[in-house]
Amino acid sequence: MSYFDTNYEVSASYLSIEKGNKQFIGSKENRTCRYCGKTKPDVTFRLEAHAIPEFTGNKSLIAYDECDVCNEKFSRLVEDHFGKYLGVLRTLSQVHGKKGVPTYKGKDGKSRIEMEAAGLHVKGYEEDPIFEINEESKRVTVTAHRQPYVPAAVFKCLVKMAIAIAPSSVLGDLQHLCKWILEDSHTYESFPYKPLMVFEQFTPGPMPYKGITLLLLRRKQSVKDVPYLQFIVAFGNTMYQIVLPMPQQDKEILKKQIQLFLFPVPFSEGYEYGKTAVYQLDLSRYEIVRNEPHVMHMSYESAEKKETLNN
Ligand SMILES: [Zn+2]
Repeated sequence: MSYFDTNYEVSASYLSIEKGNKQFIGSKENRTCRYCGKTKPDVTFRLEAHAIPEFTGNKSLIAYDECDVCNEKFSRLVEDHFGKYLGVLRTLSQVHGKKGVPTYKGKDGKSRIEMEAAGLHVKGYEEDPIFEINEESKRVTVTAHRQPYVPAAVFKCLVKMAIAIAPSSVLGDLQHLCKWILEDSHTYESFPYKPLMVFEQFTPGPMPYKGITLLLLRRKQSVKDVPYLQFIVAFGNTMYQIVLPMPQQDKEILKKQIQLFLFPVPFSEGYEYGKTAVYQLDLSRYEIVRNEPHVMHMSYESAEKKETLNN
C-alpha cells in the first residue's frame, strides 16, 4: 500500500457499492455524453445507462452522461466480451446480473451449473464432463469453456469503467481512450497499445466483495517512473487492476522497464476460505479466441449427489 500512497492520489473512488441507493454520475439537466461529447438532439439519453456493467452486480451506479448510441456500442463491443471472459465465474460467484445469476451450460447444452434457492445445482453428464468432485478434500474442479471472445475487448471494458468514473480533471486526458473503446472493430493497427496487462486477484469463498469497489489512481505531480493512471475494480471474488494506455503521459516510462505492484486485497493471510490467487493476464490479442478452457477450483461445505441413469 505504501507504493500507492507515495506515488498516487485518488482521482475517483467508490467503495463497496451495494444494491439500494442509486448514485448518479453527470448532470440530469445538462446532458453531454462523456464518451462521444455529443448532446441532444444529436444523440438521445433515453436508456438508463449503468456506469459499469450490470453483470458485475451493479444496480445502482447510473450514468447520466452516457448517450444511447455509446451505450449500445459498449454493450456489444466490450461488455459482451468481458461477460464471456468471466463465463462460469459469473455463476460460481453468484453475482446478480440483469437476469439474476446466469446459468452456465456445457458445450452440448445438457450439462449445466445453475443457482437455485438451496445453492448451486451442478448437472453433469459422462459424455460432457464439466466437474470433478474430491469428496475427501471437499473440493470441486469445474472445467468449463468460454464462449468466443476478444481479449483486447475485455481490456477495453475495464478501460470503459475507468473512464465512467473519471472526474472532469482527468477526462480531458482520456479522449484517445474514448475513441479506442468506441471503435467498431478490434484492431491493433489503429491504436497500437501493447501490452494490455491485467492483474487478476481471485479470493475464494462466498462473495468476498459484497459490493463493487472502483478506484482510479493518478500519479502525483512530484513523482516520475510510475504509470500515470491505474484503475482497480473488485466485485464477486475478483479484483482487476490495469494501467491505462497513456502514451503521452507515460512517454518516458514506456522506454524503460518498470515494476508494477499489486494493489493489496482487503483479506489477510489467515482469511478463512484460503489464499488469494494472483494471475497476470496478457490481453493483447485482437482476434477472437474460441473454445478456451476455463478451470475453476472451489470448496464446498456440503453437497448432495443425485445419480440418474439414462435408460
Ligand atoms: Zn455518446
